[in-house]
Amino acid sequence: MSLVDGIKDLLFPARCQGCAIQLDHSRRPLLCSSCLALLSPVTSPLCPCCGIPFPSGQDHLCGDCLQGRFAFDRARSIFLYREPIRSLLVRFKFGGKLSRLDTLTALATQAGTATLFAEPDLILPVPLHIERLRSRGFNQSLLIARSCFPHWQKKIRTDLLIRHQATTPQTSLSGRARRNNSKGALSVCRPNHFIGRHVLLVDDVFTTGATLHECARVLRRAGAGEIEAFTPARAL
Ligand SMILES: [Zn+2]
Ligand SMILES: [Zn+2]
Repeated sequence: MSLVDGIKDLLFPARCQGCAIQLDHSRRPLLCSSCLALLSPVTSPLCPCCGIPFPSGQDHLCGDCLQGRFAFDRARSIFLYREPIRSLLVRFKFGGKLSRLDTLTALATQAGTATLFAEPDLILPVPLHIERLRSRGFNQSLLIARSCFPHWQKKIRTDLLIRHQATTPQTSLSGRARRNNSKGALSVCRPNHFIGRHVLLVDDVFTTGATLHECARVLRRAGAGEIEAFTPARAL
């Protein structure tokens, strides 16, 4: 630690980003030992396709994947969407607290994100609707892709998979029409770019998998080869 960093630590002691207790260090991840102990890593046994973990037994396809519900080949997450990961992601995504992303990235790196995937041809952050992007000011999936895959920066593209402005306001539609409206909202630019390509999609949380499935469906139609998905967190 440099002298400047040492003085900074004395004047502005770092706080745990999970419970706000004062820390005796300023290294990432900024979490105290109690919050670190709460982390729930996603481990085997799990579904080799969608990555949902099981309480016991061996790896096997889950019911959804047996029915071929998802268009991607493989989705992997690092942690369950529980505390302190949930708070880190919420404060990063909705509060614009980029320091939370540093902690999240440090945790993901320590947990071996770099070894989860073979080098893809393209890394595509799940695109935001332009209005959402304007109001939030950043695409959380792009920032996650950049920070979790620094060695593959040149593979990250935001110009190939886009989310169109929905033609009909969602609020005026029924549930089914809403789903169809958002289905049509994703499309690829330069379809020839995808033929046989190994694509890694990046999003923040795997909840139902519907968004990643929609992205993968569009890519599949454009002729993509292997399609994988990474989210730091996974809801159960
Ligand atoms: Zn804490
Ligand atoms: Zn599955």
